[in-house]
Order: sequence, then structure tokens, then C-alpha cells
Amino acid sequence: MVKTPKDKNILIDGGPDRNIIYKLSPYIPQNKRTIDLMILTHPDIDHLTGLNEVLERYEVKNIIYNGVGDDDPVYKEWQSLKENKKIPFLIIKERERLNIENNLYFDFFWPKEDLTGKDFDNDNFYSLMMKMNFGSNSVLFTGDTEKEVEDILIKDNVNLKSDILKVSHHGSKNATTLDFLEKIKPIYAVISVGKDNSFGHPSFRVINNLERMGITTLRTDEIGDIIFISNGQSIKLLNKEHKI
Ligand SMILES: [Zn+2]
Repeated sequence: MVKTPKDKNILIDGGPDRNIIYKLSPYIPQNKRTIDLMILTHPDIDHLTGLNEVLERYEVKNIIYNGVGDDDPVYKEWQSLKENKKIPFLIIKERERLNIENNLYFDFFWPKEDLTGKDFDNDNFYSLMMKMNFGSNSVLFTGDTEKEVEDILIKDNVNLKSDILKVSHHGSKNATTLDFLEKIKPIYAVISVGKDNSFGHPSFRVINNLERMGITTLRTDEIGDIIFISNGQSIKLLNKEHKI
């Protein structure tokens, strides 16, 4: 979640269960249950399920997603909640910049085509990837995109340089190449990953790549929630203890 200087709440993906509700509550006051912008990177249930809980309990003002459809009942529920509540939405169909407020904007890098209503076996490939810019600070959110997308963005000369990288696909071996990291040059890498998951995330190769680049790597399976604060010029990690 991103809390902006003007007190807007931006939520990017919702996790695999209703836990998101407990995670949000310390940061959003009881009397202002509002999400100004909900972003769904792709419709896999480990990203989507929690968003349905949020749609039930919060006033969601806007939604951004990649337009991709899915047969899963969790996705169908998300669609019907979004429609029944008549929430304005934007589908990313090309690279574009979205201003949130003074000095704060998102650059959407991927996908760069109209995927409205399409259904894919592999949803990861078309995950939204975007950079949030605040003053001179920036965070790259990668969803679950894979190496092929990283290569396209490098080839297209997209400005990937960011202070914080949300590592793609829970640290999967199919993403986060050295070439990609060279373009981003992050100070911090955050891996959102479940403890003892059955996928073997994060991969040794990705951890190794991050280490080789001297990037401070923070893992949710090791230290839980990871919180940063930025004044637009510098970024501070608020977690008191972290393993590097
Ligand atoms: Zn995922």
C-alpha cells in the first residue's frame, strides 16, 4: 500500500486471503475506509483474492488493471463487485503516465497493447509493471512479470532506474536478471514471499544476483511487513531490524 502526502491510499494487489484487511487497518482510520486507487497487476488468485475483501469493506474510488479476463470464480466475483459498485476503472493499453498529485505519478511500462477481455494460460507475462515517482524517489512495481518482459523493456530503453524494486514473481527464477538489475540499480529490493512456500521462491539465482549487485534485500518471509518513508528526496527504511 502507498499512502501519499495528501492522504490518498493506493493499494497494489491484495494477497491470497483476507489478511489484507488486518494489514490495512492500522493505516486507514475507521471513519475513512477509503481506497482512492486499487491496482490489480494480474488476475492470479494470490494477488486478487484479498482485493475482493477490500471491495466489500472499503469505498474504492478507482481501479486500474490490464483488462485480462479469467474463468476463476474469484475473478468473476471481483468483476461483479467492481460492476455492482459502479467503480470507475482504467485499463492500461499502452505506456502512459498517470498523475496522482503534486510530484507523485505512475509510469506504466507494461503491457503495451489492448488485452481487454483476453484470457491467458500464463497471466504472469501480462502483469502490469509500473514505476511510482515521488520527487526524486521511485519504486518499481513488477507484478509477476518474467524475463522476456524485462528484455523488451531494456530493448525499448525504458527508464527503469528506481530506488526500490519490488522483486518480480516472489523471487522466481524466471525473472530479475542481472541485465535488468543493472538498469534499475535499486538501493533496496523487496521480495514478497510466503514462508516455506511450495514453489521454492525466492530462487537462489535471484538472491545471488541481488547480492552480486550489492542491493539490500528485504524478504517478507523473514521480517514481515516492510515499510519505507520518503520525503521526495531520500528514502528511509522503517523496519528497526532487518537481515541483509
Ligand atoms: Zn504471484
